[in-house]
Amino acid sequence: MNAITNHLPTAELQALDAAHHMHPFTAGGELAEKGARVITRAKGVTLTDSEGNEILDGMAGLWCVNIGYGREELAEAAARQIRELPYYNTFFQTTHVPAIALANKLAELAPGDLNHVFFAGSGSEANDTNIRMVRTYWAMKGKPSKSIIISRKNAYHGSSVGSGSLGGMTYMHAQGGMPIPDIHHINQPHWWAEGGDSTPEEFGLARARELENAINELGEDRVAAFIAEPIQGAGGVIIPPETYWPEIQRICDKYEILLIADEVICGFGRTGNWFGSQTLGIRPDIMTVAKGLSSGYAPIGGSIVSDEVANVIGSGEFNHGYTYSGHPVASAIALENLRILEEENLIEHVRDVAAPYMQEKWATLGDHPIVGDARMVGLMGSIALTPNKESRARFAADEGSVGLICRERCFANNLVMRHVGDRMVVSPPLVITQDEIDTLITRAKRALDECHAEIKEQGLLKPAS
Ligand SMILES: *Cc1c(COP(=O)(O)O)cnc(C)c1O
Repeated sequence: MNAITNHLPTAELQALDAAHHMHPFTAGGELAEKGARVITRAKGVTLTDSEGNEILDGMAGLWCVNIGYGREELAEAAARQIRELPYYNTFFQTTHVPAIALANKLAELAPGDLNHVFFAGSGSEANDTNIRMVRTYWAMKGKPSKSIIISRKNAYHGSSVGSGSLGGMTYMHAQGGMPIPDIHHINQPHWWAEGGDSTPEEFGLARARELENAINELGEDRVAAFIAEPIQGAGGVIIPPETYWPEIQRICDKYEILLIADEVICGFGRTGNWFGSQTLGIRPDIMTVAKGLSSGYAPIGGSIVSDEVANVIGSGEFNHGYTYSGHPVASAIALENLRILEEENLIEHVRDVAAPYMQEKWATLGDHPIVGDARMVGLMGSIALTPNKESRARFAADEGSVGLICRERCFANNLVMRHVGDRMVVSPPLVITQDEIDTLITRAKRALDECHAEIKEQGLLKPAS
């Protein structure tokens, strides 16, 4: 096979895929046995697979295709840039127009004095930049002992050695020698799963104060920064109690540490503002961006940095950078994506139209017998699958077994929703219409009914003791 073609039969594509293509976060045996689903085309919010099925993409790819699929303008922007200047680097005192324009645009959109951008090829790379940047910042200020970064269990910050260490996924830490030194994890503000008998408000405060306790235990002179997603995405769309972020902000203001908001999912309209930090009232020193920055049309990420941090880093040389930092084609695509988000008022569409409508429908999923905690912020949401919503019980079966069944039933009903353990998560393209939201909810309900029937039949509808 030496060309990209959609014309081979699916089984043949699947066999070639299993033979030579190593997939991220996929069990190899299962892949060979069942074959991967081959996606061939997409338009708007709809994917088409190699069998001609039309699937509603409730995940915007991997939380990234904010403007929807098939936008001709981005193809044009890419073609134009490839013809003019397909590549040049931004190392050693050189620059180019797309990187200049994108950095300026991001400085304009970002809140407060976040006016400087260090580009990367992805969210993982940007968070690796952040690790080195915050440590270098303190070293340049004469405080090299401030090197610990506090993060949270069940956070997701990427899959490179550095960003995966920042993340709090234990199953990732179990492989390949992570975490790296001087990363410290506190508990997440996940009231539904971990809140016990406390109220969400009490629990939010208690979990935020773990940051203060950690700073005091480790020593303020050892701590460089705290990193968190405004709303945890890959951890299961965990919406923190309302008391959580104000208390975190108070603690970050009180102590001399930097706050990094990982906006890779929350950024670019997902929560009904340009950035999740605005929705949740956070004032970060650094924001990590990727995904929605280009709506996934090209790999690009970056760190948007405050005047203060940029001035200190700029006072010396930061020995860091990627061949593709500020890649001209990716930058041109991102700029065109931002133009569309802005000129088509897609942030307002989320805030005033799509999110209020979808949130109301999504909440009705909470009436289903096996569903609790049906909530959204903007256009990201989740439900908990549970054998008993009053007691917020887990299933007796291994965590994720029921979630996997539900995901398969979604697929069978031409809907992509992901499962994170026994939570189902949703994050559709921001361009989704009310009709498409109705379709999404109808398919989700059908999938839940089928999942319910299947787990009953398999004897899985039992709470953990
Ligand atoms: C996806 C994600 C990342 C990693 O981005 P990649 O582009 O996959 O490297 C980092 N942080 C968050 C919050 C993410 O969701």
